[in-house]
Formats: sequence, structure tokens, C-alpha cells
Amino acid sequence: IKREDIRNIAIIAHVDHGKTTLVDELLKQSGVFRSNQEVAERVMDSGDIERERGITILSKNTAITYKDTKINIIDTPGHADFGGEVERVLKMVNGVVLVVDAFEGAMPQTKFVLKKALELNLPVIVCINKIDRPEARPAEVVDEVLELFIDLDASEEQLDCPFIYASAKAGIASYSMDEEGKDMVPLFETILDYIPAPEGDPDAGTQVLISTIDYNEYVGRIGIGKVDNGKVSVNQDVVIVNHHDKDKMQRVKISKLYEFDGLNKVEVKEAGIGSIVAISGIADIHIGDTLCSPENPVAIPFQKISEPTIAMHFIVNDSPLAGQEGKFVTSRHLRDRLFSELNHDVSLRVEETENTDSFKVSGRGELHLSVLIENMRREGYEFAVSKAEVLYKTDERGKKLEPMERAYIDVPDDFSGNVIQKLSNRKGELQGMSSIGGGFTRLEFLIPSRGLIGYRGEFMTDTKGNGILNTMFEEYGPYKGDIAYRKQGSLIAFESGETVAYGLFSAQERGTLFVGPGEKVYAGMVIGQNGKAEDIELNVCKTKHLTNTRSSSADDALKLIPPKKLSLEEALEFIDTDELLEITPENLRIRKKILD
Ligand code: GDP
Repeated sequence: IKREDIRNIAIIAHVDHGKTTLVDELLKQSGVFRSNQEVAERVMDSGDIERERGITILSKNTAITYKDTKINIIDTPGHADFGGEVERVLKMVNGVVLVVDAFEGAMPQTKFVLKKALELNLPVIVCINKIDRPEARPAEVVDEVLELFIDLDASEEQLDCPFIYASAKAGIASYSMDEEGKDMVPLFETILDYIPAPEGDPDAGTQVLISTIDYNEYVGRIGIGKVDNGKVSVNQDVVIVNHHDKDKMQRVKISKLYEFDGLNKVEVKEAGIGSIVAISGIADIHIGDTLCSPENPVAIPFQKISEPTIAMHFIVNDSPLAGQEGKFVTSRHLRDRLFSELNHDVSLRVEETENTDSFKVSGRGELHLSVLIENMRREGYEFAVSKAEVLYKTDERGKKLEPMERAYIDVPDDFSGNVIQKLSNRKGELQGMSSIGGGFTRLEFLIPSRGLIGYRGEFMTDTKGNGILNTMFEEYGPYKGDIAYRKQGSLIAFESGETVAYGLFSAQERGTLFVGPGEKVYAGMVIGQNGKAEDIELNVCKTKHLTNTRSSSADDALKLIPPKKLSLEEALEFIDTDELLEITPENLRIRKKILD
């Protein structure tokens, strides 16, 4: 059957383009159109405070009712894909609303999620938002969006999508950019008309694919998914088919079942085809599991969770100052917190190491891990982290592969040269460059993940805080070779193989030096840089014996391995990387020597 009384959609938007404002407005206005007042009352009397808290805190999904149709709005992680989550979430919906700022136009995150939606053949409603902005340029943005569709190989049908022009802030939408709207009705109507109702077989056995897991200390793990076939009801016996271990079926009774309403979850007794349900009370429930009737336990095929690409060590802070800034400082604290993170984050890996004070945490790029670090620090955890290291793989022929990311960058025109230079040095390949107006250039790079490590800070400095850098994992590709780069004009850093040494030195004073362990790492510094090759004296130390990854001061590091003062000739011999950057134009001689 087709559930004409349900629509399941996702809203896709770049951060700040107005997703939250739009959803709030839809919620507000749907109250007006709600013909069935019971629903609102049900929210009110849904049980005790503990359960209320347990349920409302975690719900990011929303449901609204318009003209007796329930519209479930599924939250998509817009920021970056931390492991196939976007696909999984999009599998629950039958269409998407793409929100695009009428001034900024289509942005990287929009593109990324849109690509997945188009691949899954979902119909798209484009909502050009913020048309009230004085600098709004809706006509151009419409063209940009259509170009993006073409770039992403949209089908003819998908290209023929409806456009809605909105000011979420003012609560208005219209079918044409020349027409002023008066409410959100055009968007509601378009959702009902254009997005197909969910379908399924009510007589088949129950099938609910768990697509997201919420976790909450009151009720524990909560599986969220769509009823694909059959129905689910409280007290029903079901079998949970584990997606990676079909033999590991467990039989459980459903004790608590919820649907979404407004911003809440409300308990229901039964849910049918197309309903988005949340199920608590099953401790051992995982993303990718299918809930089935015991008579016919058939799993729904499931998008595999992507592998991590980058690892960092989270280390107990053992300095005498430990505990001054945080509440949670011990190895136990750190361990418990990291392992509990695995409850919601399926693309994260946490491993214990030989050192009980150090945990290896792997994730989908530096950004993924830095979000975790930031959250933990905000919660009061105090710990040190090592520099991120890339997780390499090998292909069938034993060739080394490394993770590649796509970087989208908006910078003031004047700074684009600097960014291109630096990312090219870091093995980035410039794949797109266009002016986006307002004095900004947009750049697109394909770059090894390791080339981006530590770059964000530098980027902010280089662009005086005006640049925007977004990155997304793309694929594993052939290893791009060693990277040699310098920082701040007077530092040379070499990265070789799996380890890296880099630091920040100015000609006169020593700055911070981070050193990594390993046979092939060299740290070098240039002293007395007056722009002539002859004036350059290289202090090079081979950090072969250094194993202290946490040494953060140059003096500490140099105490462990005193640098040898070398003549230029000797120094050049010492450097075994095949690339040395120009330090200044006059210093080409050095480069030449090495290339010779
Ligand atoms: P989200 O990150 O996509 O959820 O974006 P928000 O809904 O938080 O909106 C980001 C900012 O844009 C907020 O300051 C909103 O007030 C503003 N905003 C949202 N919609 C509109 C709109 O239609 N017009 C204008 N001028 N500002 C808007």
C-alpha cells in the first residue's frame, strides 16, 4: 500500500543557510493547519518527567502535520559525512528539500548531500531561502543550482524540479521569485504534491531497518528506523538480524515504541508502513540491524559503514599542571568517555594501546576527530593529543594508498594565490576555480588527507580569518609522495613516509617544534635568512632517536638530539627527501643542488 497520509523528507542545507529557521517556521505554521487537535494533546501527557527528558533531549528529527498528512523531517548530518551516515539517513526518505541561501548560492556541503540524494534517485525540491536579504540574487542562484544538478549527473526528471522562494525568517514562501508569499503553504503543498508517499506491503512480515542510534542515559540505546513492511507494535516479539553477523539473531519483545511529533517523541502502541519509529529498551541494537517478524527474519541490505582514515592518540595529561583545567583527567575517565562515544558514532574506532595512558582513536578525517576533542574538552575532559596520522592501505598489487579529501575553499581574491601555492606544495591538485562575487574566489582541490593536517590554523592566519575551508573524504588513492613544506618563511619541514616533523622557527628565535618518531624524519631550520643562498645556514637534526611525540618545545627536542651545525653542502647531503621548496627566489641554488 501507499501511505498517502505520510511524507518522509530530509532537509539538506549548508550550515547557516536557514534549515533550523525553516523547520521552526514549518512547525509553527503547521499548528495552524492541524485539523486534528489530538496530536497536540498527546504530546502534553506523554508520561513522567524522566522519560520526557530522556526522549526530548536527543531528538533531532521532527514531524509536522499538514492537512492530515504527517511530514517526518529527518535530520541529515550536513557537516561532513562521518561514515555513510548521510546515505543511511536518506534511505528513510522519499525526497529532499534543498535549502540554498539566495546570496551565497550552492555550497560544498549542499553539493555533497545533494549528490547522495541524486544517486539514490530521490526527488528534490529546491528552496531558495533568505530572498529578503538586500544582496539576494535568486535568479543567479537558481542557475547555479541547476548547473550543480548537471555537474552531479541529475536525471531529466530530477532537473525538472520545483523551485520555491522563501524567507524562512519572515515565514513566507512563494512559487515565483516575482511574487511575495504570505505563508509557508507553497512549500507544504509542494511537499505533498511532489514527494511520493512511502509504500510497502502491510501483509508481509515486519521489517524495520535501524538507520540511526540515539543514546541517552535514562533509556539507553534507541534505534530509529522506518517501517518498510508489515507493522510494529508494543509487546510484539521480533527478531533482530545483525547486519554483519546473520547468525547472531536475538529475539526480543518490543516494550517501548515512539513516533515523532513536533520536536518530541511520543509513545505509540503501533506503527505501520512508512512510519519513522524509535524503539528503546533493546540494549544490543545497532545501526544496520533489521527488526523482523520471527516467522520470516529477512534482513534489509545495508550500506556499509566507511572505514576510518585518520588516527590520533588521546593521552592522559601527566604534566604537573594536570587537573587544573578539567574535571576528568584520569586514564579511566578518558577510557570510559571514549568507549561510550562508540554508542552513537559508528565510524569511530577506539583502541587500547600498550600504554594504559594512551588510546588510539581513528575517525573520518581530522575534522571528525577535532569535533570529538572539542566536545570532550567542553565537557571537562583534560588530555593531550598526538598529531593526526593518516591510515594507509595497500591495493591488490601491494601499492600504497592514502586517503584523499576534497577541499572547497572560499577566499578573498587577494589570498587565492597564497592558498593555491600552499595546497599545491601539500600535493593538492587544483580542480576548480571561479569568482563568486563580493571579492571572493572559490577553489576546489583534491588533496591527500595528510596534506591538510595542521593546515586549518595556517589557513586562518593566511586569510586573516576571512577564508572558509570545507573538506570531505573522497576516496583512497595512490600515495602521492613525500611532502616538503615550510611555514612562515623560515622553516622547512619534511614529511616522509608515516611520520612528520615540523616546527615554526623565525630566523632569530626558536619557536615551537613538534617532532615525530621514526627513522626517516628530519627537522631542519634555516638560520640567518637574508635572502641569499650563501647566508643560509641549515641546522639539521635527524630525529631518529626521538620517540617522544609530545615534546612540544624546541628546546626539549634539541636537548634530546643536539642538532649538528652543518655547512650548506653537508646539510644538503643530509636531506634525503627529493623535494625542497624555494625559500626565497634567490635560493633556487639550493633547490637546484638537490634536484641535481
Ligand atoms: P542552519 O545552520 O541552516 O540551521 O541555519 P539557521 O536557521 O540557524 O540560520 C542561520 C542564520 O540565518 C540565522 O541568523 C537566521 O536568523 C538567518 N536566517 C534564516 N533564514 C533567513 C531568511 O529567510 N532571511 C534572512 N535574512 N536570514 C535568515
